[in-house]
Amino acid sequence: MMIYADNAATTKMSETAIKAMMTVINESWGNPSSLYSHGQNAAEALEKARKTIAAQIGADPREIVFTSGGSEADNQAIISAAEAGKKNGKKHIISTAIEHHAVLHTLEKLKKDGFEITLLGVHENGIVIPSEVEAAIRGDTCLVTVMYANNEIGTIQPVREIGGICRRKNVLFHTDAVQAAGHIPINVKDDNIDMLSASAHKFHGPKGVGFLYAGKGVRLTSLIEGGAQERGKRAGTENVSGIAAMAAALEEANEKMAENAARLTSARDRIIEGLKKIPHSALNGDPVRRLPGNVNFCFEGIEGESLLLLLDDRGICASSGSACTSGSLDPSHVLLAIGRAHDVAHGSLRLSIGEDITDGEVDHIIRSVGEVVSYLRGFSPVWRDLTSGKKEFIL
Ligand SMILES: *Cc1c(COP(=O)(O)O)cnc(C)c1O
Repeated sequence: MMIYADNAATTKMSETAIKAMMTVINESWGNPSSLYSHGQNAAEALEKARKTIAAQIGADPREIVFTSGGSEADNQAIISAAEAGKKNGKKHIISTAIEHHAVLHTLEKLKKDGFEITLLGVHENGIVIPSEVEAAIRGDTCLVTVMYANNEIGTIQPVREIGGICRRKNVLFHTDAVQAAGHIPINVKDDNIDMLSASAHKFHGPKGVGFLYAGKGVRLTSLIEGGAQERGKRAGTENVSGIAAMAAALEEANEKMAENAARLTSARDRIIEGLKKIPHSALNGDPVRRLPGNVNFCFEGIEGESLLLLLDDRGICASSGSACTSGSLDPSHVLLAIGRAHDVAHGSLRLSIGEDITDGEVDHIIRSVGEVVSYLRGFSPVWRDLTSGKKEFIL
């Protein structure tokens, strides 16, 4: 048995996406910038994909720039707003403590360039408080960037409300929607979004391709110098087959969204109920305002890494913290931001289940996690200290 429960890290390409990719590779492999008809086939495939993607999020095709993925889109959105702000003497940016590193590290870099960064905290359920965003906006604020849904604890942010505040205050609003796109409904106009990042491999498209939505009037800076592709906003020959596959994947994900979300939510909630029965455990994030496929728990007295290895032995692919922080000994910045103690944050488990999960697999996950946690606690010195009263339980 192999249960892939790490869809927040990446997803398997759908048959539809593979087919769309192969069609371009076989039939429209020309350079979309070439003038002869074979190049024009590729240009048509590219523009068709742009139209499809724009329609999926309520945008105009001219507002979509293709990138190499979510990280590049995040970088470009933030750098563009910073460059524009700098010209007007506005060097203050507001974001949150729970963003993806593609956002946080870009902001760190801007700090060295003299930008002031306000990182807002979150409720203990992992939700950003809109009134705090409003209170943080100043005369020199050039950007607010708040993710749509969190990649670790799955919390869905009040994006529409935050976007509305930014509109009223005349400040640009960017959202990293990499975990949201294809999973929950998004409409850039209704949600008051100026810029949005998405990545194909998080919704059953290929890796290495994504897009940045930038509304009319938003000035984008190209991060890459070269040709005039993407209306001068992103040089380099477009990844046409990847882009076509991304469009097909997003369209399909949105078509099946309601059905998938219902299925996932019911499996998710069953896993949450099951894992809650493990003593000294706690759900991370909000029980309701969370992505349909996200489960994230802390178990006191164990190490997340050993938990993952033993779950792997039982055919379960999961994650502890995010893929980018695993391998380092720092606990997840997201878990710390929701107030988890260092020790507790080390014992975290993220299960991001897929649409094809069966009832039997849900049972296997619940049973395996319970058994592995209690097995690991059996020889954990921390657990011994907790049970002997030498240390106090937090959870
Ligand atoms: C995966 C992810 C990214 C990075 O996307 P890539 O396409 O892998 O560069 C950015 N933000 C969030 C929230 C993500 O989950």
